[in-house]
Amino acid sequence: MENHIAAITTRINAASAGSSLASAPVTLLGASKGQDAGRIQEAIQAGLTVFGENRVQEAAEKWPALLARYPQVRLHLIGPLQTNKAMDAVRLFHVIQTVDRKKLADSLMESMTQLKQHVSCHVQVNTGAEPQKGGVLPQDADGLIEHCKHIGLPLEGLMCIPPHDQPPAPHFALLRTIAERHGLRELSMGMSGDFEVAVRMGATCVRIGAALFGERD
Ligand SMILES: *Cc1c(COP(=O)(O)O)cnc(C)c1O
Repeated sequence: MENHIAAITTRINAASAGSSLASAPVTLLGASKGQDAGRIQEAIQAGLTVFGENRVQEAAEKWPALLARYPQVRLHLIGPLQTNKAMDAVRLFHVIQTVDRKKLADSLMESMTQLKQHVSCHVQVNTGAEPQKGGVLPQDADGLIEHCKHIGLPLEGLMCIPPHDQPPAPHFALLRTIAERHGLRELSMGMSGDFEVAVRMGATCVRIGAALFGERD
């Protein structure tokens, strides 16, 4: 595990060094879906402090005990969120990266107000306009971002997952353009197969699963 983290960190730093757009520092988020608590604990003990889960249910089973034991860890939601799970998500996660519709933004804001708890949010943009994928369509992103700001949601950035059969760079560039237009600082982009490209284009957070934990079944 230490070796994997060190190797990825070296590659992030190398990609960053060659680019004027690169952000420093870049957060390495461990995408821990399907990993059991033991594997996650190994990663924490190896120094990783930021993790992402895809499903509220799975996270609710694995994470409360880990977070109680390792209070330095920050947990992000990186998968789709149903409106009726907004309250659970606000309770459990430190960052929600997948806000993709007004109704969800409203539910999250209501939950935060009710729980008196602020959770940083990202809007997920479906840069490839893929029907099966979460995220707001690029042409609707401005409207959703304005809505989030209007209701007072703590919006800090954008997230995308480019289509896996296309070069990712234009998708990362589009995400960056939208973020700049709205003064949003965080860019969550790049996974095991394309994180160096993302870092060169200004990613502030890369989400790494396979290259850290090994291939999933
Ligand atoms: C699984 C997942 C990742 C990590 O993907 P790898 O290719 O295994 O690095 C990143 N982001 C999201 C949203 C994911 O679901």
